[in-house]
Amino acid sequence: MLIKPGSNLIDCLSCGMRVPRDISRCPKCDDHVTRQTDGYVLTEDIAHQQERVSEALIKLERLFVEAELGRAAGLRLIVGSGLIREAVFEALRARQFRGDILGYGQDGQNTGAIFVKLR
Ligand SMILES: [Zn+2]
Repeated sequence: MLIKPGSNLIDCLSCGMRVPRDISRCPKCDDHVTRQTDGYVLTEDIAHQQERVSEALIKLERLFVEAELGRAAGLRLIVGSGLIREAVFEALRARQFRGDILGYGQDGQNTGAIFVKLR
């Protein structure tokens, strides 16, 4: 990952130029910097420390921030089988509607995990 704490500059993964984090296209190679990813998938268990639903959703929001900073390709969320799972699916539905994420769904055969495609 290319996180530089305290820096608002990131490396364009296409040409290597240092560009401001909030820019959408690289001024040098014209690539969509906001869509670039190194393929990293952030995995987090947000449901196995007896979290309440509200706590799990706060964890989820923090993960989205972390994934954005690290330009992760996706999130793998361990959500268990109860209310948290349902609440997370609802939150993801809203995010997809807003265009924040590309898609999401159960992670393979594991009903307690959700994969979120970010880029
Ligand atoms: Zn570039």
